[in-house]
Amino acid sequence: MARNRVLRPPPSGNVKAKRAINETKLLRAELQKAMLIIESLWEMLREKHGLTDDDLYKKIYEIDMRDGTLDGKNQRKAVECPDCGHMVAPRHPACIYCGRVIDNSLFTLV
Ligand SMILES: [Zn+2]
Repeated sequence: MARNRVLRPPPSGNVKAKRAINETKLLRAELQKAMLIIESLWEMLREKHGLTDDDLYKKIYEIDMRDGTLDGKNQRKAVECPDCGHMVAPRHPACIYCGRVIDNSLFTLV
């Protein structure tokens, strides 16, 4: 027997738009905080270890090219699981079919 539940109407387009705006503001604030931390870490490396901006550009290029494409991203593309052959989307650090760890990078976005 089906339960009688109070159904809420689906959110209107205006409510969805406000949620999206708030989410964007939150992401922007988190990005600004992350950029501040990165800049601080980079300045400490320059000052304490003598690295240069050219060293940083070379490392960025090296990491960007690890997937074979110079696109300003370091996130991997979908790959075939070496154990079971299923395709593993970049958002999954491990194969969802067999559990084989595909990407254990600390810098993978999920
Ligand atoms: Zn697999």
